[in-house]
Amino acid sequence: MKVPKKKPKKLIDEKDVRLDGRGLNELRPIKIEIGVLDNADGSAYIEQGKNKILAGVYGPKEAHPKHLSIPDRARLRCRYHMAPFSVDERKSPVPSRRERELSKVIRQALEPAVFVEYYPRTSIDIFIEILQADGGTRCAAITVASLALADAGIPMRSLVAACAAGKIDGRLVLDLMDTEDKEGEADVPLAWMPNSNAITLLQMDGSLTIEEFEQAVNMAMEGCKKIHELQKETLKAKYVAVKEEVEE
Ligand code: UDP
Repeated sequence: MKVPKKKPKKLIDEKDVRLDGRGLNELRPIKIEIGVLDNADGSAYIEQGKNKILAGVYGPKEAHPKHLSIPDRARLRCRYHMAPFSVDERKSPVPSRRERELSKVIRQALEPAVFVEYYPRTSIDIFIEILQADGGTRCAAITVASLALADAGIPMRSLVAACAAGKIDGRLVLDLMDTEDKEGEADVPLAWMPNSNAITLLQMDGSLTIEEFEQAVNMAMEGCKKIHELQKETLKAKYVAVKEEVEE
């Protein structure tokens, strides 16, 4: 049996170190892989701290049912799903309101990056499976889903990188994990599309002064930039490996 998590007294110690050993402005360790599923058109997997998330993309393919097809563009669909074993307390496999809302905001965060107008009357489906959740799953899901779209060969204006900043123990911090999200004062998830320097998701839970909010947005943007570098490196590494294979 699992021992329930104890509420920590302090989230940041006197040396500005967080519960998992990070500094205030530090991302959790990130590991990304692409092309991990044989039977999806595109796929990617991310570990960000204790988060473990898989994304699979199908399409563009003829839209079903037909009446849902859009005459001048593809319909992008997204399902964010948490596995029952992904969280402390078993999550019901039935889609919750939260999962439906997150499916919608993740789709909206990704859609501006996709050339949906290239594929009229088709659908592009994104399936996101949260295998293990530890805070910030919507952001990690956007980061990994945008790589799965690229892996599917779907033309995109750019990748989308996402990251949250927030406030814990009265201080602004980057990339909140679950305990920080639950015990902290605010969480500001943000998604960024580099080519047009556009923000495609911005939400906030909790309360911040206007100045803190601006600082949190800047902090999250800096996090997104680092994540975007990692995304590019991962994509490049995959295609260098494919090129070498073809040349052999
Ligand atoms: N969570 C949970 N049970 C649930 C939903 C969420 O324990 O049914 C946890 C999970 O660790 C998640 C965190 O709460 O990552 C924060 O959830 P939130 O709704 O803020 O979304 P996220 O930060 O993951 O994007």
